[in-house]
Amino acid sequence: MKHEKSVKVYEEAVKYIPGGVNSPVRAFKSVGLSPIFVDHAHGSKIYDVDGNEYIDYICSWGPLMLGHSPKELTEGIEDVIKRGTSFGVPTEIEVEMAKIIVDAYPAIDQVRMVNSGTEATMSALRVARGYTGKNKILKFEGCYHGHSDALLVQSGSGTLTYGVPTSPGVPDDVVKHTLVAKYNDLEDVRRIFREQGNDIAAVIVETISGNMGLVKGKQEFIQLLRDLCTEYGVVLIFDEVITGFRISYNSSPKYFGINPDMVCFGKIIGAGLPVGAYGGKKEIMDVVSPVGPVYQAGTLSGNPLAMHMGKRNLEILRDNPQIYTELERKAIKLEEGIKSNLEKLGLDYTVNRAGSLVCLFFTKGPVESYDDAKKCDIDKFNLYFKELLGRGILVGPSQYEAMFLSNAHTDEDIENTINANYEALKAAHN
Ligand code: PLP
Repeated sequence: MKHEKSVKVYEEAVKYIPGGVNSPVRAFKSVGLSPIFVDHAHGSKIYDVDGNEYIDYICSWGPLMLGHSPKELTEGIEDVIKRGTSFGVPTEIEVEMAKIIVDAYPAIDQVRMVNSGTEATMSALRVARGYTGKNKILKFEGCYHGHSDALLVQSGSGTLTYGVPTSPGVPDDVVKHTLVAKYNDLEDVRRIFREQGNDIAAVIVETISGNMGLVKGKQEFIQLLRDLCTEYGVVLIFDEVITGFRISYNSSPKYFGINPDMVCFGKIIGAGLPVGAYGGKKEIMDVVSPVGPVYQAGTLSGNPLAMHMGKRNLEILRDNPQIYTELERKAIKLEEGIKSNLEKLGLDYTVNRAGSLVCLFFTKGPVESYDDAKKCDIDKFNLYFKELLGRGILVGPSQYEAMFLSNAHTDEDIENTINANYEALKAAHN
C-alpha cells in the first residue's frame, strides 16, 4: 500500500498547522506513522488521497451511526444551505431538535445546543456549580470530557485528592477544584464523598468510557454515584458524547436503568457536523441565561445545517430500532471473531464490547479501569495497527480508542476485518 501523496500533504501540513493536524490523535504519532489524508468516504469505507480503500472503524470517533455520507442524510442538504447557513436569531428546527432529544431522554426537561462535546461538558459544569453554589467537581481517571481547563486533569499513580493539570497552560489554581477518583472503584468514591461530599457541585462520568479503550461502568458503580449524588445534593452528569444514542436510542438511562440530573451530548446528535448539547431537569436549567444568572452562549449554536442533519439522523434511529439490533449483532460477530483469533494464536488478550463499540486490549483481562488499560503492550499494538492499516482496516491509531461500528458495515466487512485481524496479530507477534 502506497502513501506517497499523504506523505506529501503531511510535509506541507506541518508547515502551517501544529503537527500538521487540527486534533492531535489524527497525527498517527502514537503509532509512529505519518497520517493518511482522506479524499472522501462513503458507507463503511474511507478512501485516502493515494486511492487506498479502508474499512473505517473510526467513523469520525463515533457520530456516523449510519456510515459516511448516507443518502438519507445528504439528500436535500443543498436546499438547507440555499435558505441560509446561520441567522443569529432562532429557527423552528432548533425547537424540533430539542423536543426529539428530550423525548428520547426523559431524565431531562430542557436542552441547550452548543458546538462541541467540550462546550457541552464545560457548560454543564458551570450550570451545576451555579445551581448548587458549590465549586468542586469529581471526575474519573481515564475519562475524557473534552479539553476545557477544569476537566483536563489526569490522575497520577494512586488517587489524587486534588487534580493536577494534564497540560501546560492549565494553571494549578483552575484545577484545584477538580477531584479525581478511580473508575469503577466503589471504595474510592465512598472515601471522597465522606471527606468532601458536601463541597462537591457535580460528578461527571462516562457511563461506558470510550477514552481508555472501552471500559464499561459497573452497574453498582453507576448506582453508587446516583445514590451518593442524591444523598449529598450533588448534580450527577452523564457525559454521553460517545454513548448517547449509540448504546441504545435512549442512551445510558435505558442501558443502566439509572437517570442522571444532567446529560452532555456531542458529535452524534449532529451526525458528523459540529454540534453538542447539554440538558437537565427544568429546575437546574432555569439557572441558565436568559432565564437565570449563569451565562452560556454561542453564535453558531443550533446551526441550521447541523440541526437538519442531526434531526434527520435521530429520527432515523428512533424510527428504525432494528438498526440497533443489527449493529449489536455485527459487533458481537466482530468480538467473537477477534476472540477466536486470539485463541488460535495463543494470545492472552482482552476484548471489551458494549453495544456497537468494541476494543481489543493488548493485555490480559479483566480491563475495568485506567490502571488495567495501562498494562497494555503498546509496542505490540503499534505493530498491529500498522499491519492492519496495510490490510485496509482503519482503527483508531491508539490502544486507548474503541472501534466504532456503523449501520453501513456489512457482514462482508466484518468477515474481512476478522481475517485481517488474524493476519495482523500474527505478523505483530512474529
Ligand atoms: N466527552 C467525551 C466522552 C468524549 O469522548 C469527547 C471527545 O471525544 C468529548 C467529551 C469532547 O468532545 P469534542 O471533541 O466534540 O469537543
